[in-house]
Amino acid sequence: SDSHFPVPISPGQVDYSVYYPQLFPSPDKFDGSKRIEFADVGCGFGGLLISLSTMFPETLMIGMELRDKVTEYVKERVVALRSSNPGQYENVSVVRTNSMKYIPNYFEKEQLTKMFFLFPDPHFKEKNHRRRVINLHLLDEYAYVLREGGIIYTITDVEELGVWMKSCLEGHPLFEAVTKEELEADAVVKLLSSATEEGQKVARNGGQTFQAVYRRIAPCVSN
Ligand code: SAM
Repeated sequence: SDSHFPVPISPGQVDYSVYYPQLFPSPDKFDGSKRIEFADVGCGFGGLLISLSTMFPETLMIGMELRDKVTEYVKERVVALRSSNPGQYENVSVVRTNSMKYIPNYFEKEQLTKMFFLFPDPHFKEKNHRRRVINLHLLDEYAYVLREGGIIYTITDVEELGVWMKSCLEGHPLFEAVTKEELEADAVVKLLSSATEEGQKVARNGGQTFQAVYRRIAPCVSN
C-alpha cells in the first residue's frame, strides 16, 4: 500500500537536498530557482534517465517508480555513477511513489518540459483500463504540470495500448501531435526504444513498437 512511503503535501515541500545533494547541499538553501523539468513515469530500472542525465546536464530530472526494490536499484545505480564520474549524474534522481495519485504533490503548474511513459503496464482487461497511466482524466493532470510547448513521450510494444494512448492524446484539447520532421530532429525520440531496459528487451526479440509523442498546447480561445 501507499502508506509505506512519505508523500510531500505540495511541490514546495519536496526536499531537493534529498534528491540532488550535490546541487542543493541543505534544504534551507533551496531557493526554488531550479526545479525538476523531466519526469520519467514508471521509470523501471532507470536506463532512460541515465542517458538523459548526460544529454541534458543542466536539467533536473526524476524517475517515479512504484516498486520499492526497483526504486532502490535506481538509487544505487545513480550513487555508483556519481562516485565513478565526479560532477556527473548529479541532476538525476528517483522517487518511490504512485504516479497515478501523486503527480500534483511533486510538480507545480507548468513546471515540467518533458514527461515520459515508456512501456507502461498494459492492463488488458476492459475493467482495468482505468489503471492505465495514460487516460483522459490523468492527461488533465499532465497538461497541468507541463508547460506550453512541453512534450509527452509514450512508447509500447503492445499495439492495443499504443492505439489507446494515441487516441487519448489525440482526443485531449491541450495536446497536439509532434510532426514527423520534429520527431526526426529530436534526439530524445531515439532513446525511447534504445535506452530503457524494456525497450532493449523488445529490440532483442525483434518486437514492434508504437509511439505517440504529443506537445502541450495553449487552450483554444473561442468567442
Ligand atoms: N519505463 C521502464 C522501461 O521502459 O524499461 C519500465 C517499464 S515497466 C514495464 C513499467 C514500470 O512502471 C514498472 O517498473 C512498474 O513498477 C511501474 N509502475 C506501474 N504503475 C506505476 C505507478 N502507478 N506509479 C509509478 N510507477 C508505476
